Amino acid sequence: MNDTTRSNIPVLDAEEILAGIRRWVEMESPSHDAVAVNRLVDMVETDLRRIGAKLTRTPGRDGFGDVLEAHSPWGREDEKGILILGHLDTVHPIGALATTHRFRKEGDKVFGPGIYDMKAGSFMGYYALQHFVRTGRTTPLPVRIMYIPEEEVGSPTSRELIEKAALKAKYVLVMEPAREGNKCVTARKGVGRFEMRITGKAAHSGARHEDGRSAIKEAARQILAIEGLTDYAKGITTNVGLIKGGSGVNVVPALCELEIDLRVPTAELAESVTAHILGLKSHDPDCTVEVTGGMNRPPYGKNEGIAKLFEHAKGLAKEIGFDLQDVPLTGGGSDGNFTAAMGIPTLDGLGADGRGPHALDEQIYYSSLVPHAQLLVRLLETLR
Ligand SMILES: [Zn+2]
Repeated sequence: MNDTTRSNIPVLDAEEILAGIRRWVEMESPSHDAVAVNRLVDMVETDLRRIGAKLTRTPGRDGFGDVLEAHSPWGREDEKGILILGHLDTVHPIGALATTHRFRKEGDKVFGPGIYDMKAGSFMGYYALQHFVRTGRTTPLPVRIMYIPEEEVGSPTSRELIEKAALKAKYVLVMEPAREGNKCVTARKGVGRFEMRITGKAAHSGARHEDGRSAIKEAARQILAIEGLTDYAKGITTNVGLIKGGSGVNVVPALCELEIDLRVPTAELAESVTAHILGLKSHDPDCTVEVTGGMNRPPYGKNEGIAKLFEHAKGLAKEIGFDLQDVPLTGGGSDGNFTAAMGIPTLDGLGADGRGPHALDEQIYYSSLVPHAQLLVRLLETLR
């Protein structure tokens, strides 16, 4: 990681970067629409092919798009290198571009569906590789970029491929959005997902109320118990985010289903809280409670390797002219959780600065494009 031969900081063009981001943003790609996501994968594949990257495209499954892996034109296939991660899917439905998220630039702010999370960052990965090809230079380590089609739903079909690619990585750079104020991410909570199915007994709510066993009443007690696991001091949060139950207002409900989101900062807490949730029992002996699920993304803590990588990036940012800070433990998960949990130094949140991920005011800051692209280029040319 020693930076011995500091080359001149290359000139990168903000207008050109934005034009490229715009092409990718205008190809709308909601996670659950494999056809739409693959149209963008086609475009990215064509871009990467043009710069001579070696490509592997793995067909999608379970209704998701394809996973695209690119290898820099230089560097041996079997050599450990740098893995850049980006996702091509967004949370926005088709049509957001024409209505709620029109592509537009207002001063320093640029709006568009998924522009901040994370098409700007994903494009920067491509742009950095293109920069080396154009300037006829190579990097000390081979560079691989992996584009994920369903990160926004937890990367269920690509996790295995990410972990396989990570085995060949000395470092992982995740192009998820920077936090407001140019901050990057060096620690993320783990994410757990659970479903609880509560079965009671249906009955006429007027005539035979006493024969019924309300699944919703049981659910109410379960919800309080689950939400009660939240402990801000320890960094644990639980959220019963979805609830479905009952069949009619005059029927004692026989079924109620809950979906639960869990966030935890450490592997130990992940294990203990998961066991607790999976072990929840019915209060009413005549109801049954079944819980399924578990940790989807393991916690990602700032270990020594991550701290060193961050310090290195901080030094490079200083040369470029900005002060790179990291955010304390964030509750949002990313594909960086997988690679960091494997012990590979992972630096996340290297994409464009902005605000409003998933929100109506989702935007990037135009002024962050060049410094962040420069930082990525410098990381690629100095990591060894
Ligand atoms: Zn994202």
